[in-house]
This record gives sequence, C-alpha cells and structure tokens, in this order.
Amino acid sequence: MENNYICELEQIVNPENVITSFEERLTYSYDSTRLEYMPDVVVRVKNAEQISQIMKLANEYKIPVTPRGAATGLSGGCLAVEGGILLVMVDMNRIIDINPVDLLITVEAGVITEKVSKAVEHLNLFYPPDPGSMKSSTIGGNIAENAGGLRGLKYGVTKDYVNSIEAVLPTGEIVTMGANTVKAVTGYNLADLMCGSEGTLSIITRATLGLLPIPPDRVSILAFFKDMTDAAKTVRDIVAGGVITATLEIVDNVTINAIEDFLKIGLDRTVGAMLLIEVDGQKGAIEAEADIVIRTCKSNSVLSVRQAKSVQERDKLWEARRAALSSLSRIRPSTILEDATVPRSRMVELVNAINEIAKKYQMMIGTFGHAGDGNLHPTILTDLRIAEEAKKTEKAIEEIFKATIALGGTLSGEHGIGITKAQYLKLEISKPVYNLMKNIKSVFDPNNILNPGKMKCTWDI
Ligand SMILES: Cc1cc2nc3c(=O)[nH]c(=O)nc-3n(C[C@H](O)[C@H](O)[C@H](O)COP(=O)(O)OP(=O)(O)OC[C@H]3O[C@@H](n4cnc5c(N)ncnc54)[C@H](O)[C@@H]3O)c2cc1C
Repeated sequence: MENNYICELEQIVNPENVITSFEERLTYSYDSTRLEYMPDVVVRVKNAEQISQIMKLANEYKIPVTPRGAATGLSGGCLAVEGGILLVMVDMNRIIDINPVDLLITVEAGVITEKVSKAVEHLNLFYPPDPGSMKSSTIGGNIAENAGGLRGLKYGVTKDYVNSIEAVLPTGEIVTMGANTVKAVTGYNLADLMCGSEGTLSIITRATLGLLPIPPDRVSILAFFKDMTDAAKTVRDIVAGGVITATLEIVDNVTINAIEDFLKIGLDRTVGAMLLIEVDGQKGAIEAEADIVIRTCKSNSVLSVRQAKSVQERDKLWEARRAALSSLSRIRPSTILEDATVPRSRMVELVNAINEIAKKYQMMIGTFGHAGDGNLHPTILTDLRIAEEAKKTEKAIEEIFKATIALGGTLSGEHGIGITKAQYLKLEISKPVYNLMKNIKSVFDPNNILNPGKMKCTWDI
C-alpha cells in the first residue's frame, strides 16, 4: 500500500516534488519549537487541484496530511505528529491580483507576509498584520494561526484583513469562503472560522486580503523605566488617556541585554524595562499624540524618554525589537517562548506574577511583547537536557498559564495551541465547548486525516 501511494503522489505532482529520502525529510521534521516529528513523505505542491487530488488519495488510504508554510510556528502546528504526508505550501507564492479601488490583494497561500506589503507600496498602500516573523512566515500560516504582530493594537490581526479564502477541504473539494465586499452576512462566517484553525479544517490555497493607505507620517518613541511595573502602568495609562498607538511594545532587562549582546546598538543595559512606541497618522495629529505619550511616560517615573532622531534610528530600533526572540535564544540551550495574554488593565498583575514565578523557580525569564494588546512573551531560558531544569520549566509554564487565566486572560494571543499548549486547554475551555470544537472538526474532516493530533485536550488523552 505504502509504495502505491508514493507512486500515486508522483503522478499527481512532478516526482521531484515527492521527497522520501531520510536526510531531506529530516529537514522538514522541525519547526520553530524544539520539537521534532518525521513525516513519511514530503510533497511540494503547486496548486489547489494537486492538493485536492492528494486529499482524495489520503482519504482513500487514511493517511495523515499536515500543511506546512515557512515553519516559523511556535506551537508545533506544522509538525507531522502522526507521520504521513507533509504538504509544503511555499511554492504557491504568486501574487494574483491587486485591486487599489476595493483595497484588496489576492495572493497564494505560500506568499511571504512581508511581500504582500511590498507588492502594494508603490500604490501607497500596506497590509497591516506584521508578525515579528514577517520576513519568512507565509500568508497561509498567518491565517491558520490568526497571526498578530506589532501593529495589533491599532490595526488588529490577520482575521481583520481576510475577506475571502480559497481552500481545499479535507475531503478534497475546492471551495471559496467569505466575500470580497466590505459587508457580507451570507450564512455562517466560515472564512473567519479558518482564521486560527491551525491547519486542521482546510488547506488554504489562496486569500483575498484587505489593504489600507500608508499613514502619511509616523513617530517612534523610546522610553526607559526602572522596572517592568512602571512600564506596564504606562502602557495602561497611554490607552486610557485616549491614544491608540500603532505599536506599544515592552522589553525587559534580560531581553534588552540579550539584544545588546547580539546587535550592539547602544541600548541602556542597566534599566529594568523599555517601551517602544509608535504613533502614526496625519502630521499634526501624531505630534499631539506623541506629546500625550511622552507626558504619560513622565507621570509614570520614566528614567528617560525621547523620539527617534532619524528614519535610520527608528528602523534600527524596530529591527532590534524584532530580534528579541533570536537574541534570547542565544543564551541557553533551550528557549521556551510563551504567549500569555490578558486584558490590558491586568497587565501589571501579569508582569508581577511572571517575576514571582521566575524568583520561585530561580529561572531566567526574558519577557517582551505586544504590551498594548496585553500580549506578553515570557521566554524561559533553560536547558531541557537536565531533568531538574525540565521539571522546573514545566511547573513554571503551568503557573504562568494559571496566573494568566486567573487574570481573565487566554492561553494564546497569537501562536495557537498546536501540540505545545494542548495539555493546558482544559484550564481555559469547558468540556461542552471542547466537544463543540471536536464536532466542527469531524464535519470538515470525517476521517480525521488533516493535521491530526493538534489541539487535542487531555480529556481525549
Ligand atoms: C522570530 C519569530 C517571531 C514571531 N513573531 C510572531 C508575531 O509577532 N506574531 C505572531 O502571531 N506570530 C509570530 N511568530 C509565530 C509564527 O511566525 C506565526 O505563527 C506564523 O503565522 C506561522 O506562519 P508559517 O508560514 O511559518 O506557518 P507554519 O509554521 O508552517 O504553520 C503554522 C500552522 O499553520 C498551518 N498552515 C500553514 N500553511 C497552511 C495553509 N496554507 N493552509 C492551512 N494551514 C496551514 C500549519 O499546519 C500549522 O498548523 C513568530 C515566530 C518566530 C520564529
């Protein structure tokens, strides 16, 4: 049977796109977590028709199929946990249509996120969702994870820009969900359901995405604080003061030092926390907003606050923020990045809880994140090869999640559940809700072949 299906795959796609050698499959057995699962075969697909035929074949033989974009995912979503076919989407990378009147762009799922904005820059337009990984992540992966980004506070996340999706259902039909109109209430909002479905309900092949005019001007502000609490209070007060900044990012002392070690851009290593803030819009309006931001920093005991002096300095600061995770990951053998998210009003309490947990377990935790969204990335720097460290890490993660839920928050603001957070699902969702999700999954995928083993709650294990 196995040889049959490999031969049949080679008839659907060019044989050179069916990868079976151990060495090559190995390179597809990882993503951006520390985990590893080996697919039985890797298939690089070119169009929806090929995927449709593969799904029909997979249903016939009951073979698991896992879609994979750029593998920048942080919850193990694109790992082939049950083996089978790994479907690589990155060759589906064409920009199909740009419509400046309707402010829409249609792209294939394997297009790199940053390329969407680059493709419309000449029309003075941009695509707002900007995950830190945007230079490598794909639009399909962004939709599947409902990716957020640095501009989430003002501009929202991926789902806010998905008008319609072309997808292949697990049973092989090619369908379109959603509409390319400003308004659409025709039936259930299935395009929205695909956002955050983590590649378990359909394989996204194409998407029509919303665009916005590039704001005419922007100002970046850099503020240093003695500790994370003062910085978190400032975040809360800026928004409460009526300013919705384009970005409002927080970085703690551990992360500042990691960035400085890596990039050497002259950040103050002695401070407890840094806020990176950007306001954008019409010149007069942003000057007034920047003024409120700076005054709010001052009323929260800021150590120093200033505007970026030049475009080069501004770009360097944002590059530094985007390098936070890679900088931290150089410190210890294992980097466990979490994604705790609370209502903004509770962020001071979350920051304090993370500090307490770090002290209790004597662990190094670097924290940074989209503070304006209440979305922090406490990043545990550890060595999981040492049993005692692994045990402490597990306990610390569980306590961070418990604290997050107790503060009215959620397990994941943007990285999804996948396999890394599945064991904690029970903390947040009730059994009836979980059953509802399972029932939705079985309607789409009666043979449970599309990305099986993901979002699987301990109720099921
Ligand atoms: C340095 C770094 C910074 C990051 N910053 C952010 C951030 O700011 N915000 C944020 O939200 N995330 C961030 N991430 C996480 C990650 O980049 C996002 O989750 C991204 O959306 C994953 O895209 P991908 O193409 O790499 O998908 P993959 O990792 O390949 O896959 C992710 C999930 O999507 C599914 N999938 C992929 N393509 C398809 C498709 N065509 N159809 C159906 N399912 C599909 C996979 O099965 C899997 O479940 C960051 C990651 C890194 C490494």
